[in-house]
Amino acid sequence: MILYIVKKGSDPGGLIDKLNSRGASYRLVELYGEKLIIAWPDSIVETATDPSVGAVVKIKKPYPLASREWKRDDTIVSVGDIEIGGRGVVIAAGPCSVESEEQMIEISRRLKNLGVSIIRGGAFKPRTSPYSFQGLGEKGLKILRSVSDEVGLPIVSEIMDPRDSLLFKEYIDMIQIGARNSQNFSLLREVGRLGKPVLLKRGFGNTVDEWLSSAEYILSEGNGSVVICERGIRSFETGTRFTLDVGGIALAKKTTHLPVCADPSHPAGKRDLVAPLALAAIASGADMILIEVHPEPEKALSDSEQQLDIDGFAALMDKMRSVARALGRDL
Ligand code: PEP
Ligand code: MN
Repeated sequence: MILYIVKKGSDPGGLIDKLNSRGASYRLVELYGEKLIIAWPDSIVETATDPSVGAVVKIKKPYPLASREWKRDDTIVSVGDIEIGGRGVVIAAGPCSVESEEQMIEISRRLKNLGVSIIRGGAFKPRTSPYSFQGLGEKGLKILRSVSDEVGLPIVSEIMDPRDSLLFKEYIDMIQIGARNSQNFSLLREVGRLGKPVLLKRGFGNTVDEWLSSAEYILSEGNGSVVICERGIRSFETGTRFTLDVGGIALAKKTTHLPVCADPSHPAGKRDLVAPLALAAIASGADMILIEVHPEPEKALSDSEQQLDIDGFAALMDKMRSVARALGRDL
């Protein structure tokens, strides 16, 4: 694929005419303040030139916008006042599911005091069984909004259906795409068009290239505020719930300019495995860590076995700080 960077203030109409007359395919995207044209196949577009073109980049990866082949510097994604992808490691924490306003207020206040920057909580839950707790839905989103306003921290929550996008636009600061929807292309396009920051989980059967191609769907709608999140892949191991792919985190950091998050809770599946996975994720380059914490994990309505209690999380926070600082990062 060929990526044309249009000169500031220039009209790319001439280039588009040339691409059309050659029968090429192209897409015009405005991203990070640049006007870009992605055109293919290489054999037809390679020799097209126009005075409006400032630079031409030949891209080998199937995800030109997500790749460092075009954008070498790290992208910083802002969620409220929080910056993800810089020197600091950002910690997001909260329960698997929003269960009540009291639960969310209590946990959010305590997490803020421990140095957490973003609160998590699922209102629409992707459950393997239709008979398991499905989340509070819209009521859960409203609880998240009021808790966020009260405590003064932004919130991240998972969207499952493009038809809910306006609710998420109204109530939620960062929209999570879950592992099971990582290749739901109409949902990816929809959150791309919403323009809010996105936390994109890796599908547990997806390669790093497939995960970055999912990010490309969001970027190609002109939304560059994407954080990609490793949350464990399926392997032959059954002792853990999934296999946290630390090699995938390191590879993603090299391949994309987007910030990389890691979720140690879902691959652990068990409380006492969360801490070592969180520390390994920071050591392998993660810019953000997403952890499930519940005021009373044994009573949680979903993922009870893997959620940390407040004391367990406080102890892990100290360890994460030590590892981050040993690597020259802030936490
Ligand atoms: C979650 O974060 O609550 C969740 C369902 O995660 P995943 O999509 O990674 O399973
Ligand atoms: Mn969960």
